[in-house]
Amino acid sequence: MDKHVKVDMEILKIMDCLVCSKKKEDFEVWSNKIVIAATYDSELQNHESIRKMTKKSMICHDCMQSIINQVNENRK
Ligand SMILES: [Zn+2]
Repeated sequence: MDKHVKVDMEILKIMDCLVCSKKKEDFEVWSNKIVIAATYDSELQNHESIRKMTKKSMICHDCMQSIINQVNENRK
């Protein structure tokens, strides 16, 4: 395997959803740690799945929505 192919595979790995492992499609809006930090929502940031994120992790829109729903549910 040459270097170039190896780099491409690493990029693909990064583009999996952290929660459901779905691969990212170009048109989908996903969240990363920077986006979540920008919400200044400490309860969201303390969610187990969010805490597992690294700088390179991505979460798909569906999983992000269910995490937000869970956090809102616990807030009540
Ligand atoms: Zn997902």
